[in-house]
Amino acid sequence: MTAKIRLCVDHPLGTGQSVALTEAQAHYLFGVMRLGAEARILLFNGRDGEWLARIAVAGKRGGSAECLEQTAPQRMPPDLWLVFAPIKKARTDFIVEKAVELGVARILPVQTEFTNAERIRQDRLQSHAVEAAEQCGATHVPVVEDLTALEKLLARWDAGRRILWADEARVGAATTLAGAEPGPWAILIGPEGGFSPSERRRLAALPFVAPVSLGPRILRADTAACAALTLWQASLGDWR
Ligand code: SAM
Repeated sequence: MTAKIRLCVDHPLGTGQSVALTEAQAHYLFGVMRLGAEARILLFNGRDGEWLARIAVAGKRGGSAECLEQTAPQRMPPDLWLVFAPIKKARTDFIVEKAVELGVARILPVQTEFTNAERIRQDRLQSHAVEAAEQCGATHVPVVEDLTALEKLLARWDAGRRILWADEARVGAATTLAGAEPGPWAILIGPEGGFSPSERRRLAALPFVAPVSLGPRILRADTAACAALTLWQASLGDWR
């Protein structure tokens, strides 16, 4: 029997462990995917790796699965955060999904001077992160924080975490991370309107901020997020 469906659960996982399934998970497994008792699924919870599990009870409003064996160890992404200004709903969803696939530890939406969104549906974005982790084989789901003002975030920033600032003003400059040390980093992506002059001055004055060009063309924010994550992962992250 091939196990294809991966589910993220809150429950501890271990040999023989019985895991209760929520109503939404039961609906998906037994209603949508038409699985029944004895079917095999994969479970992870962000702590205990990935486990092969057997459906023990398949009910309309819930059910349970029994852990059989561990199929992958717990793997944490590099200590990389994505800080980005939310844009239109579908593109923001895309950024969260791709950030999980490319590998980040934490996602922080920020409000900048030129950000249109005044609030975000944090719970919906967190669900997108869970779905992306289920689909891409990750055993960790990054936390998606609620919207914070960029200024507030910078005021309490730990200087030990460097910021790779995707700076549209450097368009066309040479792009290199040569000489950059691995360790805690964050990538910062601006909104459609870019960063304001005062934000630019503030960022440029911070010793832990490294501005970077993402090539000779201006990218949409969602493309810029993917490009910066790829650049960082290949130079300093877990793609090396
Ligand atoms: N309105 C801005 C302009 O015309 O200069 C462009 C903003 S761009 C759509 C959104 C964000 O993507 C920027 O704030 C920056 O973080 C990032 N970005 C896009 N293209 C980039 C590039 N070539 N180099 C560095 N960052 C870039």
